[in-house]
Amino acid sequence: MKTHVRVLVIGGGVVGVSTLYHLTRKGWTDVALIERTELTAGSTWHAAGLLPLFNMSYTVGQLHKYSVDLYKRLPGETGQDVSFHVSGNLRLATSRDRMDEYQKYCGTANTIGVPFEIISPQRVKELWPLAELGGSGDTPALVGALYHPDDGHIAPADLTMALRKGARAAGAEIYEHTEAQAFERTPAGEWQVKTSKGDIVAEHLVLATGNYARQTGRMLGLNVPAIPVEHQYIVYDESPELKSYRQGGGRELAVLRESDASYYLREERMGWILGPYERGAPARFADGVPDWFGRSLFPGDLDRLVPHVEAATRRVPALENCGIKDIVNGPISYTPDGSPLIGPAWGLPNVWLNEGHSFGITAAGGSGWQLAEWITEGEPGIDMLAVDPRRYGAYTGKRYVVKKNEETYRNVFTIHYPDEERADARPAKTSPVYDKINAMGAVWGQRYGWERANWFAPAGVERKDKWSFRRTNYFPYVAREVQLMREQVGVIDLTPFTKHEVTGPGAEAWLDGLVANKVPARVGRMALSHALTPRGGIRSEFTITKIADEHFYVVSAGAAERYDGDFLQKKLPKDGSVGLRNITNTRGCFVVAGPHSRAVLTQLTDTPLDNDSFPWLTAQTIEAALAVDVYALRVNFVGSLGWELHFPIEYAHNLFDALFEAGAKHGIGMVGMRAMESLRMEKSYRMWGSDMTPDYTPFEASLDRFVRMKKGGFIGKEALEQQLAAGVPNRFVTLEVHGVTDADPLGNEPLFDKNGKMIGRATSGYYGHHIKKSLAIGYVKAQYAEPGTPLSILILGERKQATVLRESPYDPDNNELRA
Ligand SMILES: Cc1cc2nc3c(=O)[nH]c(=O)nc-3n(C[C@H](O)[C@H](O)[C@H](O)COP(=O)(O)OP(=O)(O)OC[C@H]3O[C@@H](n4cnc5c(N)ncnc54)[C@H](O)[C@@H]3O)c2cc1C
Repeated sequence: MKTHVRVLVIGGGVVGVSTLYHLTRKGWTDVALIERTELTAGSTWHAAGLLPLFNMSYTVGQLHKYSVDLYKRLPGETGQDVSFHVSGNLRLATSRDRMDEYQKYCGTANTIGVPFEIISPQRVKELWPLAELGGSGDTPALVGALYHPDDGHIAPADLTMALRKGARAAGAEIYEHTEAQAFERTPAGEWQVKTSKGDIVAEHLVLATGNYARQTGRMLGLNVPAIPVEHQYIVYDESPELKSYRQGGGRELAVLRESDASYYLREERMGWILGPYERGAPARFADGVPDWFGRSLFPGDLDRLVPHVEAATRRVPALENCGIKDIVNGPISYTPDGSPLIGPAWGLPNVWLNEGHSFGITAAGGSGWQLAEWITEGEPGIDMLAVDPRRYGAYTGKRYVVKKNEETYRNVFTIHYPDEERADARPAKTSPVYDKINAMGAVWGQRYGWERANWFAPAGVERKDKWSFRRTNYFPYVAREVQLMREQVGVIDLTPFTKHEVTGPGAEAWLDGLVANKVPARVGRMALSHALTPRGGIRSEFTITKIADEHFYVVSAGAAERYDGDFLQKKLPKDGSVGLRNITNTRGCFVVAGPHSRAVLTQLTDTPLDNDSFPWLTAQTIEAALAVDVYALRVNFVGSLGWELHFPIEYAHNLFDALFEAGAKHGIGMVGMRAMESLRMEKSYRMWGSDMTPDYTPFEASLDRFVRMKKGGFIGKEALEQQLAAGVPNRFVTLEVHGVTDADPLGNEPLFDKNGKMIGRATSGYYGHHIKKSLAIGYVKAQYAEPGTPLSILILGERKQATVLRESPYDPDNNELRA
């Protein structure tokens, strides 16, 4: 066994072996993998081998697409067959909402180049003659289906062996029966891994330990939010009907998914495999995998399976005539949002996770591809935020993860509405004034563990969402909140913002090297600033305010706490010249905005708030009501006159009550996240994570005014120089969409020129309630960015005309903000 390698992968499931394979494809051949028992001994050996291309996530969709393409060429490359049956994949729909979900997905599929068809019930019958179309008795009628001709199923162990062969042929080593037992940092900054067969030192560690993710993480002090859930499928005996259909020349049936009955069905040796996602499947191994488990399974739980078996038998009566051969019930790793954890571990240099895979056979290729690129080149080739392990924070304790993973598992096949908010493990994190806001009719949502009011139900209106892909029950109430903000004064509780304090003699120079904008030099000035990736993509957005000499207040998105914190911490100079403190939980934030906001705030503070004393884009430390040391920032994300008050958290109640008392005669009211979405869209404000991602540079995002190419060096500057020299390929635009009656754009819709050629994608969309326009924002090829350009957009299967608008359709000259 080698004693030193560049990368050591821990875990010999399909995901670990794929990572190893892809490292060798990047030219890193001094790499090894250790597996505690034998390759595939974890979840890989008993997986059903389905490769669904369907995924609502833009990122995960790209990973799956890469995998399917790779698996097709792998046998030719390695000489190892992988039993890839390209049988196709059929997802049935029995309701309009389900069809809306498929149509929404098709927007994403279009933008990433996944082939698909939306088909009629009649076509379903042609493709799947053994299925009933329903409509009588207990079998719901089909309204259509989504068909992927390109995917199918594979033999997971053969796939792993092919990847192993490819990796070993390129020089990678694989050591079975070798368990990682402890990790230590060497003085040289490498990782010393104690294994059951001796020590190995590695520059980089990749954890790909499947069901063991939590115990592996614990050895490194990481609380990895991956806990498996039981997942079972039934293997049936030969089916006489299937046999006669196949012997009569019928082609292999597509994998069938009846989403509304939560099961999949595929052929297996003239019989069937039926896999449901049941209610009540328990999380397992929250405290680690016990030694006795090994290459084992759980006993089958027929009670949980019965409702799905019955539904499947109604849809495919041939099931009735075959006996059950086996029930496979194994652990399947899950995370609270169902997406894997691929990327850097937080707080530790050169430690990488490829964990939490619930569709790991499908995702193995793509996750290995991107992780290898990240390790060898310093960043991934596509936007990986949706799977970045740092999208979670310290709140993912054991009980939270258990509850959320069980909830996610049983919802695998439910309709994924864009406004869906799931109920379990809530409320977890709340603002101090949660009860007060709740009493005002809040209808809550959750992000990064925080409760956030989505909208406010007036007295007598039910406090409940009716989730939809279209305008729905809360539409008129969101409109009222938008009007409140535009015409009177509204309050948004943005306490979840991520807040860092950066201090010390080196603070300004250090921050300046991290972001593309000029860090403010004068106390009381602020700068919207973007940290870029080395390739020039947007990694983070920070509002940096100079509070005092050598003291900066750095605010970023609430969901970026660990993502940004980890970035800042890893970049911190070692000489002690800069202090970095995460003060997220020590300050709350109320946005107070609208034409009457000045009149309200003036009653709370002696600080003059007129334009000369307190201009737009400046900040002061003020007293407000009984609160002291309040950072008042004259900026906001809604585009009206207003201030963000960032106050010491202990004053939350006092400040909140004072605001509402002073605001009563000005019609003050609470405003929720959905109204904020409408308001920011009217101003073309880009949202980090959806409109600003590593896929696009700030020039492509049309944020040129926040980039100072003439200042000193900053991360990504060379890439921007190259892009300027070569020409900026895409531009960010705001579109008015015409002819919308009930389905506004929501993001991830493809955009077309007048000849029907795809020339970009929307990254967000909403109805602008004040300007009364259906709006989309996103990226188009640069030549289509001129205001007035006619384009079209595909929304839920319907092509709508759209026109490029001048940036910021509401108040384009920012007169309100300067008022
Ligand atoms: C019943 C069932 C059906 C499924 N069907 C499908 C499907 O159809 N399609 C699909 O895409 N996915 C499916 N899955 C999910 C799929 O099996 C997993 O996502 C996938 O196998 C995960 O692979 P992995 O490499 O991450 O983990 P694993 O295969 O679990 O591998 C992890 C490995 O790490 C090793 N290890 C752990 N700790 C250490 C250590 N300290 N030192 C050394 N080695 C260690 C383990 O021994 C294990 O071999 C199914 C899962 C189940 C349970």
